[in-house]
Amino acid sequence: LENELNQVRKLESIGLLAGGIAHDFNNLLNGILGYSEMLVEDLEDRPELQNYARVIGQTCRRAADLVYQLLSFSRKGKRKSVSVDLHALLGEVVSILRRTIDRRIEIKLNLAAVHHGVLGDPSQLESALINLGVNARDAMPGGGKLIFETQEDEPDVTFCTKHGLPPGRYLKISVCDDGSGMSPETLDHIFEPFFTTKEPGHGTGLGLAAVFGTIKSHNGLTRVHSELGRGTTFHLWLPLQDGGAAVEEETADTCAGRFS
Ligand code: ADP
Repeated sequence: LENELNQVRKLESIGLLAGGIAHDFNNLLNGILGYSEMLVEDLEDRPELQNYARVIGQTCRRAADLVYQLLSFSRKGKRKSVSVDLHALLGEVVSILRRTIDRRIEIKLNLAAVHHGVLGDPSQLESALINLGVNARDAMPGGGKLIFETQEDEPDVTFCTKHGLPPGRYLKISVCDDGSGMSPETLDHIFEPFFTTKEPGHGTGLGLAAVFGTIKSHNGLTRVHSELGRGTTFHLWLPLQDGGAAVEEETADTCAGRFS
């Protein structure tokens, strides 16, 4: 336990450091990403070069993802709080994933006809959803189906009490794959920082810890169902915003009670 605590502390310092440069760093990455996407479009008739440009884009995504994972461990991290159109955000996430992951994975988006605004940080939410998509991809090496779905949900009091969720209206986002699934033993650990079943260099074990923390700091809930050999579904509940007025750059301690 002492060891684990030290590791988490170390990560927090990295997070603080990353926090200082993350914004500038992400701007740099977005520049490279934007130009690499233009290259991909322009190189239709040069498949080999087009593939190089695609790899540049994928690598930028991975770098941006790493920044997100490190940042989510920063206790002093500032979180934006603006009105986020989650359906537009999901559209963006799906288009990023379609551009970057294996074509043998079919990605579907089923959006509910509900009011879908939440208050929060769009880039954190986007990173969390991309993380879930990338994990699903890793669970479907031979291809498969990845579905993003939303529905309005008003969980009953028993559910809310059990999971410490304030009663109210939520947007429930489900991310579902028909990949490898997980054993109950793996499931027990997936939200722990550093837990990974992937080869060294292929996983940090921080992705789901970061997703969990992001959703919690948005006053939401993350749950998962998985069956070995059948697939996995992550459910995220985010409180629906009724007002609609944007609140700019509110400062919040995003880590309060993260792993409780
Ligand atoms: P990483 O992806 O770096 O391993 P994560 O925290 O994102 O770290 O995930 C932890 C572990 O949870 C993964 O190594 C994998 O074993 C398991 N996992 C996560 N998502 C899925 C999924 N969709 N299907 C099967 N296993 C998954």
